[in-house]
Amino acid sequence: MALEIVEACIKCWACVPLCPQKAIYEADPHFLIDAGRCTECLGDYADPQCASICPIEGAIVNELNEPLNPPGSLTGIPPARWTAAQRETPFR
Ligand code: SF4
Ligand code: SF4
Repeated sequence: MALEIVEACIKCWACVPLCPQKAIYEADPHFLIDAGRCTECLGDYADPQCASICPIEGAIVNELNEPLNPPGSLTGIPPARWTAAQRETPFR
């Protein structure tokens, strides 16, 4: 049972010092979680500390590949609106 950091990670370092298991490490092209060390914070905290502080939606996923901070959860921007904005931006 472990979380995973995926390509959306911007390597901001915010999660690294919070991990009670010291499971997060720098790697390229993004940080990684040592699955052998990650406990999903069970027994230490009520919530996974990495996902609690991560500023990037979708950067941390569970074993079902579900983001702990799904699209819109941090920005408040509905996913459909965000997709539309990304389509529009290059033409401005
Ligand atoms: S869920 Fe907890 S133990 Fe696992 S990487 Fe994140 S902070 Fe570390
Ligand atoms: S807090 Fe999120 S974006 Fe920052 S290093 Fe950790 S996983 Fe990557």
